[in-house]
Amino acid sequence: MRLFRPILSLLLVFVTTFLVSCSSPTQAKIPTVYTPEKIAQLQPFREPVALAKEQMETLKGFIQAKNWTNTRTFIHGPLGGLRQDMAIVSRKLLVKDQKTAQNLAKELFGHFERIDAAAKDRNDIAAQEQYLEAVKDLDAFLALIPSNS
Ligand code: ZN
Repeated sequence: MRLFRPILSLLLVFVTTFLVSCSSPTQAKIPTVYTPEKIAQLQPFREPVALAKEQMETLKGFIQAKNWTNTRTFIHGPLGGLRQDMAIVSRKLLVKDQKTAQNLAKELFGHFERIDAAAKDRNDIAAQEQYLEAVKDLDAFLALIPSNS
């Protein structure tokens, strides 16, 4: 008994440690709706993407004018930071929307790459087609970000 007690208490320590490490921490509830606070927090991150949407009009003008130098410069310049802006805002969306947002961003940049290639080839038909697809993806992306304006 003299030997057994310390072993028993040691065993108890083991069991307790095991139970503590196994019991899942009270799972944080994953939000499924945008609260007004969350929407307000999102606005500064939505802004650069909304601005890019306006800038798409400039790109459209360059493509229509077949100004290929400006088309390519614009994709790499003013729209160049958009990839990062979209990645940042995607991570701030509700978990259920993040994958969709990331896929749309990936799609959009695929279209930009193809506009760039079309501009290189001076192919206005392809550039215009890809432009329209890019606008669709950007619109869908923006629709995912709730706005208070
Ligand atoms: Zn697309």
